[in-house]
Amino acid sequence: MAIKISKIGVLTSGGDAPGMNAAIRAVVRTGLYHGFEVFGIMRGYQGLIEDEIVPLDTKSVANIIQRGGTILKTARCQEFYEFEGRKKAFENLQKRGIGGLVVIGGDGSFSGATKFSQEFDISCIGIAGTIDRDIQGTDYTIGFDTAVNTAVEAIDKVRDTMEAHDRIFIIEVMGRDAGYIALHSGIATGAENILIPERKTNISDIITSLQEKDRRKKMVNLIVVAEGDEFGGAEEVHKALVEKLPKAEIRICILGHIQRGGSPTCLDRLMASRMGYYAVQCFLEEKKNIVVGIQNDKINYIPLEKAVKAKGSISDEWMKIVKILAS
Ligand code: ADP
Repeated sequence: MAIKISKIGVLTSGGDAPGMNAAIRAVVRTGLYHGFEVFGIMRGYQGLIEDEIVPLDTKSVANIIQRGGTILKTARCQEFYEFEGRKKAFENLQKRGIGGLVVIGGDGSFSGATKFSQEFDISCIGIAGTIDRDIQGTDYTIGFDTAVNTAVEAIDKVRDTMEAHDRIFIIEVMGRDAGYIALHSGIATGAENILIPERKTNISDIITSLQEKDRRKKMVNLIVVAEGDEFGGAEEVHKALVEKLPKAEIRICILGHIQRGGSPTCLDRLMASRMGYYAVQCFLEEKKNIVVGIQNDKINYIPLEKAVKAKGSISDEWMKIVKILAS
């Protein structure tokens, strides 16, 4: 019979996302409440390999729920791709008697955790922390709501100057593989065009509609582009438009890393708190190697190896809404 877990570790790994601190806090406080000893692992899998592991108490996570970033820091770790690296990581957990690990990160971090838990006697529980909202089996990932709200606030500001000068603006938001930030922020700011990796970009359609606007002397147009959009991002769209509309004033604004930072929204804090609470619950119920997701407002346990990037899940209905509302 497996020995009951009495000590757990928590780490944040891969891309940072606002709300990770709220998740750490929930894991630590729920863990302590149930009598676990809780350890924080610094800089993701790197700290696990380099033995940067510190005990956490309830005070260590005081006053962090509202803070962006992660108090445990995060990193990408090359050594963890190798068996030898993962072996070192396991030995560091083993010598402290840590039997459970909460991994707050994206699909890459979950791939690492899958291998780790298959090779060694360690139960890994994942919490989806990524601004991209693209993990299979969950309607929410921590950080998405904050990132979208940051994008909306910035785009609203750009729109003011765009309207004042009668300009065309191409705004690039984050999303290398997923268009959720572009879709949500674009709809919420009344963008005329939203370009995402999940859809083929019909640049000639955009050009035709802009030429039509030009004829009506109404050259105001907001285009929101995901960085991984199929056409090649804001710079490529800009090049294509400038060539066909030489007289128009066409500007680019790349929002970049501001979308990752800042104080998490109420929704992100709430989701992170819930997911952290249920992650610890998994150890109590002896559930192993799963990711805590939320679907239809209910907790959904996703097998770790199935918590991969959700591809192409933006429906045609969404694109229809974009088109109708922008007309
Ligand atoms: P994210 O979790 O945000 O998707 P990454 O894809 O960069 O971020 O993954 C974070 C870390 O997880 C990597 O730097 C690496 O240490 C570990 N990792 C990712 N994929 C694997 C894998 N296939 N095998 C082992 N470790 C992995």
